[in-house]
Amino acid sequence: MDYLIDGKLGSPADNEKRALLAWEQGEEFVTSKPVLLSIESTSVCNLRCVMCPHAIGAVRRPKHMDKEVADKLEGFLKSAKSIQLHGIGEPLLSPAFWQFLSAVQDNHEAHIEVNSNAVLLTDTTISKILDSNLKTINISLDACTREMYQKIRGEKFEKVSMNIKRLCDKRREKVDSELKIWLNMTIMKENYKEIPYFVYFAKAIGADHTHFNDLNAFNAHTLLNWKVERGDFIFNYSEQMIDSVIDEVHEKLKEAKRNAEILG
Ligand code: SF4
Repeated sequence: MDYLIDGKLGSPADNEKRALLAWEQGEEFVTSKPVLLSIESTSVCNLRCVMCPHAIGAVRRPKHMDKEVADKLEGFLKSAKSIQLHGIGEPLLSPAFWQFLSAVQDNHEAHIEVNSNAVLLTDTTISKILDSNLKTINISLDACTREMYQKIRGEKFEKVSMNIKRLCDKRREKVDSELKIWLNMTIMKENYKEIPYFVYFAKAIGADHTHFNDLNAFNAHTLLNWKVERGDFIFNYSEQMIDSVIDEVHEKLKEAKRNAEILG
């Protein structure tokens, strides 16, 4: 099969074809570069969400990626087709994240995405994002009410909502923007009743999609010792798993889907 393409040598499409060819032929040494890149530009975070290892001090020695490492990785960004620029930290805090965003400016074939808590969105960071080649920003919220957001994420809901709204408004003004804005909710016993309303919230604020996911199933020992106090709220990880309310969660998800269909 001819994988050497019509397109430019070294383009993401060419790179992917060379990777597939090497895989088909069982090559041990490949000349292609990674097709999918997942780069943790930082493990530092400005929040301490109750279900995150940051909340219990389990992220050891959080730090931003060294400039030296980021410089070495830059070369891989131009040939990848799928690029994720997040890990267990807040990318907007990280100099390496902004460096990578500039470096992918000319890679129009790649799907580039990042997860963010959106707390650090400002007019300046919003402009930088909208001027970049970023295709998806997944904003982790876990709630659509002030009380729930404060319990889980410990920040001011009004502040983060205004940041997201500003991003959505500016994206709408920039008619050629390809950026998609997702809102994420990690489902736990504490917040699952907000699932159907989360969709209304996303629509009202101008986001494109909602995404729901489970709590991570850490091992039993970790779960048992995972307890975070935030004001009157005590988050006990093992008690927040949704197994015992799974039917109700499914009902809420169905309701959310119906709401999404109605809202378009
Ligand atoms: S924003 Fe993300 S990385 Fe930061 S504490 Fe919350 S879940 Fe963890």
